[in-house]
Amino acid sequence: MVSITIDNVSKRFGKTLALDNISLHIEAGELFFLLGSSGCGKTTLLRHIAGFYAPDKGKILFGKDDVTNTPPHKRNTAMMFQSYALWPHMSVAKNVAFGLEEQRMQKQEIRNNVSEALHTVKMAECSERKINELSGGQQQRVALARALIVRPRCLLLDEPLSNLDAKLRLEMRSEIRRICKEFGLTAIYVTHDQKEALSIADRIAVLDSGTVSQVGTPQEIYRSPRSKSVAGFIGETNFVPGTVKASNADGRVEVTTRHGSFIGRKASPAWEPVIADSVTLSIRPEAFTVSESNSETNSITGKLASLTYLGEIAQYGIAMEGDTLLQVAELNPSILHHPGEVEFHASVDPDDVVIINN
Ligand code: ATP
Repeated sequence: MVSITIDNVSKRFGKTLALDNISLHIEAGELFFLLGSSGCGKTTLLRHIAGFYAPDKGKILFGKDDVTNTPPHKRNTAMMFQSYALWPHMSVAKNVAFGLEEQRMQKQEIRNNVSEALHTVKMAECSERKINELSGGQQQRVALARALIVRPRCLLLDEPLSNLDAKLRLEMRSEIRRICKEFGLTAIYVTHDQKEALSIADRIAVLDSGTVSQVGTPQEIYRSPRSKSVAGFIGETNFVPGTVKASNADGRVEVTTRHGSFIGRKASPAWEPVIADSVTLSIRPEAFTVSESNSETNSITGKLASLTYLGEIAQYGIAMEGDTLLQVAELNPSILHHPGEVEFHASVDPDDVVIINN
């Protein structure tokens, strides 16, 4: 188990600045996610940690050791890719044993370690099967066993579940967390799948165009996005433009919008709002409560334009003034509202209105 520090790392490929002065600290034993859209620099950063790339600028530390110039095989990391890079015609046990054979460990010791690793990933019964006789999920478990068996200081996972179907992805993501915690591993996990990150991460770094937009726990990232790009990337949200009307002593801010007045909380604690500042409200669809009537603040009234019923949830599209469509989601709906209803009301708690300074 080791902590990892990325200190002002930059990397350029030709005209592309893939990493732009990235600094992060990952605690020992943490399951840390790098999350962001395609091309934001996630894999490039992971490859720097593995040692496949050297930064143009900056340092990478494992604990207190500066590993910036240490070759990959001396960093004692294990990497798991989307394609599991297993040998299809070899047995499961042979695939898993490979790393230890390279280390010239004794045969009996290898057998014991292979058996333990396969047991951890619940594949002990398949040890003599060939890789090409396994399902995608089983292959993924073998790849994980092979990564774990070398007792890495740090496990690096690059979109490890992207080849699996939706049900297996769900199952495997909690398995990955269980195994990382059981082994006390520092793990860095790259994905563009926000649900994967929210569901199992200890902390998440959201990357955008080679920079870190925000670092936080899943709940911090989801409930308190610091910027429009983070709010828009993680989950669904409604953006409502407005201007600051008042800044209250309790830290709440009141904002005037074309859909009415809203009280909410600041996205960034450091921001000192000034009257008439231009802001954007971020309100999650599920933060609204469908109501009977309109109230003075924190509520919307519009025309119901669409209904999508998904059983546990009803999604409403509300046509507001000025061609704006707001999304409202109601959990466990008992009475459904149907498009065409002239007046649809919904309200939102100030805690669920995040005010982002433009
Ligand atoms: P994805 O989710 O699509 O894998 P990513 O966030 O992992 O994307 P990277 O693969 O890190 O993104 O790429 C970041 C940027 O650097 C992209 O613009 C990419 O085209 C560029 N890039 C990455 N590797 C190289 C390379 N070896 N040579 C040139 N450009 C590269």
